[in-house]
Amino acid sequence: MSFQSIGLRAELLRAVTEKGYHEPTPVQAKAIPIVLEGHDLLAGAQTGTGKTAGFTLPLLHRLADTANAGGKRKIRALILTPTRELAAQIGDNVRAYSEYLPLKSTVIFGGVSINPQISTLRQGVDILIATPGRLLDHAGQRTIDLSHVEILVLDEADRMLDMGFIHDIRKVLALLPSKESRQNLLFSATFSEDIKRLANGFLNNPKHVEAAAQNATADKIEQRVFHVDKSRKRELLSQLISDGNWTQVLVFTRTKHGANRLAEQLNKDGLTAAAIHGNKSQGARTRALEGFKQGGMRVLVATDIAARGLDIEQLPHVVNFELPNVPEDYVHRIGRTARAGHSGEAVSLVCIDEHKLLRDIERLLGRQVPVGNIEGFEPDPSIKAEPIQNGRSGPRHQNRGGSGQGNRNNGGQNRPGNRNKQSNNSGSGSARRRNPRQARKAV
Ligand code: AMP
Repeated sequence: MSFQSIGLRAELLRAVTEKGYHEPTPVQAKAIPIVLEGHDLLAGAQTGTGKTAGFTLPLLHRLADTANAGGKRKIRALILTPTRELAAQIGDNVRAYSEYLPLKSTVIFGGVSINPQISTLRQGVDILIATPGRLLDHAGQRTIDLSHVEILVLDEADRMLDMGFIHDIRKVLALLPSKESRQNLLFSATFSEDIKRLANGFLNNPKHVEAAAQNATADKIEQRVFHVDKSRKRELLSQLISDGNWTQVLVFTRTKHGANRLAEQLNKDGLTAAAIHGNKSQGARTRALEGFKQGGMRVLVATDIAARGLDIEQLPHVVNFELPNVPEDYVHRIGRTARAGHSGEAVSLVCIDEHKLLRDIERLLGRQVPVGNIEGFEPDPSIKAEPIQNGRSGPRHQNRGGSGQGNRNNGGQNRPGNRNKQSNNSGSGSARRRNPRQARKAV
């Protein structure tokens, strides 16, 4: 199948060709015709599958069909995303794909001044990409009119629920025209009961599409585990990077503090590194990401939330400096490599405290991850396992690590006050299910 045979407009085909895409990815081939026909869509697809173009291209096609002939532009498409980075990336994509169309888009998220956003909105845009927190700030200040939205996209819906955005999403939905008079698209990597409930609430007779199962992404990635003592992980990481001559590696830590400390230590080892996480200013995060993408920096150390949705083309190496508390996050993390058909390598440094986490991950993958061995780094058998700090604990514990994240200036990305309220108010079953994920929110 080609983009042409799907029936996309010439302006979009030109933009897609300039991006270097030869044919639609599987999720694009399935989703684009459905959206072009005007149906609601429930799509199972994670970052790396090409899902962004899967909803953006038909969305632009439909908007261009009835482009505004004069008068002030109205927001006709709203794309909601959980994080600032993802919002920025989708914004870049929308801009690139709409280059030859008379459509204007903008991105709004927190952590930056609201005033330039207000003036852009005042001038009028057709497509808005937003994180929920800042969007509601605008709604509260009456600097936004969502009453003309024709197409709503909820991207990474599972992550939005994990991050406690359910109330914010409901508030946003209340600002839109009725669900029957909009086209609604929901993308999610996983389908919990909560997601299904949300989908039932705002989709009209949706068509379903599913990109390759999560584990199929993992299959293209060469995965290895190195068993190593906690105190020697940094040394081993430096050696792997130096000996392997790795020039671009994304490293995951469990905590913000751990990310900072590791980046500092790697710099002392002579490896250029920076950390990104929710406590860093938006400017620092953007600079770190750009430095990493341009090749000026060798190592980017990130927590799960900061790294969610990062699209760095052909990222060859991902390292789990610490295993995630939630097995699904392992799949998300290693999915940062081997993107869009490329192969990649994912290495996990596992100390004795993390053996249970590794077993949980292997159960999810349905197979064991091969074990590598580097001489001189064998674990000391006299060291006994200790409980993991910041592990599967409930939200109260997490709040201690989450100070300063609850304000709106945080881009609506990490807002524990709101989240906790939500988890306390929700049914006990779903609250219990969410707890392991909430353990991750404060990091
Ligand atoms: P996404 O899942 O939307 O984050 O996209 C992942 C990556 O795939 C991005 O770098 C896109 O630019 C790239 N991509 C999207 N569609 C295609 C395509 N049809 N052919 C090749 N690469 C693509």
